[in-house]
Amino acid sequence: MNAQSEFTKVAKDLVVSLEYTLTVDGEVIDSSEESGPIDYIQGHENIIAGLESALDGMNVGEAKKVNVKAKDAYGEYDPEAVEEIPLSEFPNDIPLEVGVELAVEDEDEGPISAVIEEVGKDSVTLNFNHPLAGKDLNFDVKILSIRAATAEELEHGHVHDEDEDCDCDDADCDCHKNN
Ligand code: ZN
Repeated sequence: MNAQSEFTKVAKDLVVSLEYTLTVDGEVIDSSEESGPIDYIQGHENIIAGLESALDGMNVGEAKKVNVKAKDAYGEYDPEAVEEIPLSEFPNDIPLEVGVELAVEDEDEGPISAVIEEVGKDSVTLNFNHPLAGKDLNFDVKILSIRAATAEELEHGHVHDEDEDCDCDDADCDCHKNN
């Protein structure tokens, strides 16, 4: 017997190491060749739903192409989510240039991100759609390895680095309370 993980199939609560290339409209926009493989916990909404469900049951070493429709990825493009806002509502220190991404405070939803689409004389047009809204995502994926999640990882709902303590962005996570 070798010392490999006893888990060979992607299933809920397992940590999956994944090699991937993401192609949108024929262009590679993200790849593990550049950023390294991702580790995530299956079944914890760490990755987009359409991809997670396609990976379920895959074997270590298995590769496949996964097409995720816009509605199962970042949603359909919403033409109504583009708003013209008076220039006077923007603080002076914000760089108002086309393409700049802003976090806008929404009364109901908290901070939501928007991209400046147009800067006019008295107003700024903000696009609240996700940059990948309306886009089908084409993934080439390969399962590199699978292991059991630790109890702490399951509690946090995300993967921890092997030698590092948790340093996630989740403000509710215990890791920010103990340190
Ligand atoms: Zn954590």
